Amino acid sequence: VEDFLQIQLSLLEKIQKIDIEVTGIEGERDSYPRKKELINEEVSGLEAEVDSISLVKDDLERQRAAAEGEIVAWDERIKRNEERLKDIKNEKQFKAVGKEVNTATKKKAEIAKEVLRIVKLLETKHGELDNAKERLNQKKEECEFIELEMKQLTAEWERALAEKKTERDAVAAKVSPDILRRYELIKNKRHGIGLVLARDSTCRGCHMNIPPQLYIQLRKGPDELIVCPHCHRILYIDEKTSV
Ligand SMILES: [Zn+2]
Repeated sequence: VEDFLQIQLSLLEKIQKIDIEVTGIEGERDSYPRKKELINEEVSGLEAEVDSISLVKDDLERQRAAAEGEIVAWDERIKRNEERLKDIKNEKQFKAVGKEVNTATKKKAEIAKEVLRIVKLLETKHGELDNAKERLNQKKEECEFIELEMKQLTAEWERALAEKKTERDAVAAKVSPDILRRYELIKNKRHGIGLVLARDSTCRGCHMNIPPQLYIQLRKGPDELIVCPHCHRILYIDEKTSV
């Protein structure tokens, strides 16, 4: 009877090891869609950033064109008045036209200053736009990469999971259905771990102390499954390391 249970426990140990590997593969597989989703969100965010900078830049360019148009208009006005000045004999009229030229020159200078301000802003926006576009391209590449990686890994995950299943089925066939069912139940309730090692009077699943009586029973080789009184997982002893 003792031998039977020891063999069952060592089979469960193999199954638990395979189950942990399966959980690892599934965890990696299941983390990818979220990874991809996050990158897609970043791509959308950067696209919106590029769009909004472009809008500001376009608006500034329109402002610059309008201001430059105004400069041309003021220039023409100045030129026209300067021409008029040559023919004016009347001093009062001369002063009036001269004043108009002065005002126009001032206005032109003001607008020229404004153009300079817009040009500087445009330079900044160009820089920001280039930067955002570069980041966007990098993210898009990252997105393509992760899709490719996912495609390749999906084949690998499928192969590995199929292999693990074959391996597990072969071991599970040798385990008593009752024991296997009990292990599965505990495993599903306890974060994928149904069987844990007991060492130095401690459960290695929850790190709590095992009562001495129970630990002695475990070391002696019990005639029924012993579960940890704290985490309720099936306990087993490794002969080589048990103290
Ligand atoms: Zn425990």
